Amino acid sequence: NLSLEPLSVRTTCAYCGVGCGVKATPKGDGGTDIAGDSNHPANFGKLCVKGSALGETLGLEGRLLHPQVRENGALRQVSWDAALDRVAGQWQDIIAEHGPDAVAFYVSGQLLTEDYYIANKLMKGYVGSANIDTNSRLCMSSAVAGHKRAFGEDLVPVSYEDLELADMVVLVGSNTAWCHPILFQRIARIKETRPHVKLVVIDPRRTATCELADLHLSVKQGTDVWLFNGLLSYLARNGAVDAEFVARHTNGMAEAVAAADVDCADPAAVARKCRIELPVLLEFYKSFAATARVVTAFSMGVNQSSAGTDKVNSIINCHLLGGRIGQPGMGPFSITGQPNAMGGREVGGLANMLAAHMDLERGEHRELVQTFWQSPRMADKAGLKAVDLFRAIEDGKVKAVWIIATNPLVSLPDADQARRALEKCELVVATDIMQNTDTNACAHVLLPALGWGEKDGTVTNSERRISRQRAFLPAPGEALPDWQILCRFAQRMGYEGFDFNSAHEIFDEHARLSGYRNTADDVPRAFNIGALAGLGQQGYDALEPVQWPVTRLESGDLLGQARLFGDGRFAHADGKARFIAVVPRLPVNTICEDYPLALNTGRVRDHWHTMTRTGKAPKLADHVAESFVDMHPQDALLHGVRAGELARISTAWGSMVARVQHGGGIARGSVFIPIHWNGQTASDARVGALVNPVVDPVSGEPEFKHTPVRVEQF
Ligand code: SF4
Repeated sequence: NLSLEPLSVRTTCAYCGVGCGVKATPKGDGGTDIAGDSNHPANFGKLCVKGSALGETLGLEGRLLHPQVRENGALRQVSWDAALDRVAGQWQDIIAEHGPDAVAFYVSGQLLTEDYYIANKLMKGYVGSANIDTNSRLCMSSAVAGHKRAFGEDLVPVSYEDLELADMVVLVGSNTAWCHPILFQRIARIKETRPHVKLVVIDPRRTATCELADLHLSVKQGTDVWLFNGLLSYLARNGAVDAEFVARHTNGMAEAVAAADVDCADPAAVARKCRIELPVLLEFYKSFAATARVVTAFSMGVNQSSAGTDKVNSIINCHLLGGRIGQPGMGPFSITGQPNAMGGREVGGLANMLAAHMDLERGEHRELVQTFWQSPRMADKAGLKAVDLFRAIEDGKVKAVWIIATNPLVSLPDADQARRALEKCELVVATDIMQNTDTNACAHVLLPALGWGEKDGTVTNSERRISRQRAFLPAPGEALPDWQILCRFAQRMGYEGFDFNSAHEIFDEHARLSGYRNTADDVPRAFNIGALAGLGQQGYDALEPVQWPVTRLESGDLLGQARLFGDGRFAHADGKARFIAVVPRLPVNTICEDYPLALNTGRVRDHWHTMTRTGKAPKLADHVAESFVDMHPQDALLHGVRAGELARISTAWGSMVARVQHGGGIARGSVFIPIHWNGQTASDARVGALVNPVVDPVSGEPEFKHTPVRVEQF
């Protein structure tokens, strides 16, 4: 080929769970042109401002490029052999003296599925502990728990196209316009072509998403279960029940409706509790009852709560009651935050899950996975979830932690506790692409990883679509893919089963495990990508985005599945879905005289996580240049602070300083602070240090959306 056209590589965006296809074209001058991939079914060529700026984030400034070991307080560059020998030696000593639960991994939804697979296999099948948790615990574990309770497996029933086929879209706890912009643009286009489509936004803040809404329910923080129990009760009393569907395909309706009726049978009482106008509430209830094709999409505003799992089930209950699931244009839809939160779930990257959607608690699942892996041991009880893990580190029960691709000293609740934990820990290993982060400052060993554009593998987006991330840049310095770092470590630990030479070989094993003994007579799971085994390197490189479960047609073509449960069969042993009777409860810590406002946290449009990548792109900083505290003007007046001036914001767990603003749309009694700013800037703006470390008792997901707070003059 004598063409001088630069070669484009088709890959997937590094940021949110929409999972947009990207065309990256390296230029001769060292830069990279970024464009949307018009053939990718998530985005059809569109990119949001973050995705478009990916090319600006690829420079090597600030990168961690060599293994380093801390000696006498200072980091010293060492060889890979020396670094990994040190880690393996110390892990072996700790395991020998204190047992396998004295070591842990804390990983990330930024990892590719292949990296995640190796970390999980290593920990559960070889170390013999389930102490591997992930920052995905902080964003979508309540959805996972809700799916498992209702459906019998962590299954997202719908596709993005269902948002376009619906006659009513309900967005709950999701500023979709900023956090999943391409999805929001798809909804906006549908409203142009099908103007009758009703968009309902349920959010305590009047966000940018509300600009398109036909109805905004500004619910009081933490009252979602009252709202959806009220809807369940309303539907049951007004004949909006699909009696045949409920009888044939579900269990537990009577108990769920009875539980809802206790507090939520009277819409006027629900409206008072949720602090919304009764006519607005009734319009929502009536519209839902009258519309067959409804998608209820939910995100962090639902999940990040001490009642997150119940909130998820209260939403699913309403869909089951009217049979609004399994058909085009309907169903509950968890929109994930991170690019590969879903892929991590597939390989069992949470402390209470096993690979390929199998259950750690079920003996037959443990036996299946151990037999497949031929591993020497198998964890047989759930490991420590994120918040508990960092408590166990501070208590000295976990003595070595390996943190990969995440920055918990910024992102965890009570982040100063996490810092105390790492300062006490015998061995902190951090694998990262960046040198200077709050977490890396506490590491004894730093290991350089490949970043986006340099590494190869797969990710799964919110609609179960597996897409390739492909490398188009050379590996910088001595950085390695995460899977390879872990395999080299495993071999030093003396474990067999880690002699992989490429991401493709790992994906192949993952695919084979998902299909292994996955039949009706054995232990069937809906997650099945066995058809993707045996692709070979060429087939893997050419893999087109595909939604699991995947089947192979006689023609040899691969067929994905847009939606689940179309046949009315769910993944519980009896094939039926479960209604879950949920009793509403308020956030654990309520506001009081000392802390009279409720802190809500979340994202801004142009930044991602703790800004280690987006902080490099000047054009992304233009939108919001510094952290802020957004509050209602009357609250500001009451608490003696003014827009544009600095204020101190304090909770029982920590404090920070930020500039006051009135962004509009925030209700009286609450304040909002973004999650992105870290402690590496002049002023420490880690809002995580202020957040209460309260978690949902089922999912372990922290309550990021409600911490009692005080705002005062600085
Ligand atoms: Fe990337 Fe999400 Fe934007 Fe798509 S919507 S370009 S996946 S950040």
